[in-house]
Amino acid sequence: MNVPFNKPYMTGKELWYISQAHASGHLAGDGQFTKKCSFWLEQRIGCQKALLTHSCTAALEMAAMLADLQPGDEVIMPSYTFVSTANAFVLRGATPVFVDIRPDTLNIDETKIEDAITSRTKVIVPVHYAGVSCEMDAIMDIARRHGLIVIEDAAQGIMSTYKGRPLGSIGHMAALSFHETKNIISGEGGALLINDPRFVERAEMIREKGTNRSQFFRGQVDKYTWVDIGSSYLPGEIVAAFLWAQMEEADIINKRRLDIWNTYHQWFANLERIEKVRRPVVPRESVHNAHMYYLLLPSLAHRTIFIERLKTKGIHTVFHYIPLHTSPQGKIIGRAADDMSNTNNVAEQLVRLPLWLGLEDQLADVIAEVVSAAQ
Ligand SMILES: *Cc1c(COP(=O)(O)O)cnc(C)c1O
Repeated sequence: MNVPFNKPYMTGKELWYISQAHASGHLAGDGQFTKKCSFWLEQRIGCQKALLTHSCTAALEMAAMLADLQPGDEVIMPSYTFVSTANAFVLRGATPVFVDIRPDTLNIDETKIEDAITSRTKVIVPVHYAGVSCEMDAIMDIARRHGLIVIEDAAQGIMSTYKGRPLGSIGHMAALSFHETKNIISGEGGALLINDPRFVERAEMIREKGTNRSQFFRGQVDKYTWVDIGSSYLPGEIVAAFLWAQMEEADIINKRRLDIWNTYHQWFANLERIEKVRRPVVPRESVHNAHMYYLLLPSLAHRTIFIERLKTKGIHTVFHYIPLHTSPQGKIIGRAADDMSNTNNVAEQLVRLPLWLGLEDQLADVIAEVVSAAQ
């Protein structure tokens, strides 16, 4: 048996749409495929504006520019996340302030956010881990009371909802990822979603190297020039053409992923009952997108043996984040706001299982091996 941890899924239409982009002769950004993808996101997520970027990292960098951070400003986020969540803000001179996660969803613990707020705090970045929503009502309420901007890191959250609202539609802004390890992919890719209309115009300029090019093409200004800071954040049409093929099948992809997730979840109920593993927790108000199936094992030693045993059977499982507050860069540049005990524990206990379209054929074998390795 050889079961990779991830295998990017192709719908089969990607090359056809790429050939259309090729034939159209428009290869730079913001052509017909970019428009289709942005419109799809605006419709499905219900955001004011969706701007395709070349990664979620790029979208987070744009969001950090839009939040107008000054050196020394503080940004509250979990430590149990990908480096880009912090890096985008650090590039603006801001300090990441790490708050512990909840033991159930592994998302930022909203009850600990307020204690981490200082006079320098400007932004809260909730990360929807495994596509399961953060407690957004509480987070938006804290932000309102303290005048903070909320930027959702929804890299893993496409097609998930919180109380019926799509992730990415709740904060002032949000960032999505279409990296090949995510649910809907374009190799590398992402999008900045804007819900607060006061950021829309400036976002277009930042994305176009700090120029008013978008307004010029809409005929709103008669020449295009340098008006703001910015960079080149547009993906080309080849990437957007690929992404469009994926968006067309997004509902099918989502359903097939959920089927695999649910099969895992049912099979591991027994292991959880005898306290060999803890399964993911999805709160009642959250509908998730099966981005990830993970298990929490009793200890680092258990996890090390578990990953090794599955590897000898050809099944590739991986652990996840080294908490940012313990990383070399995070220690220099960030600050932990509390004891981070849940973060530290989860970082040692969590293991991610293979979850990709096509795994269905080998799923029974994988489950059998996981059950035996966890006994
Ligand atoms: C994948 C991921 C990112 C980065 O996405 P890219 O598109 O690779 O830049 C950021 N944050 C989280 C939580 C992620 O999972």
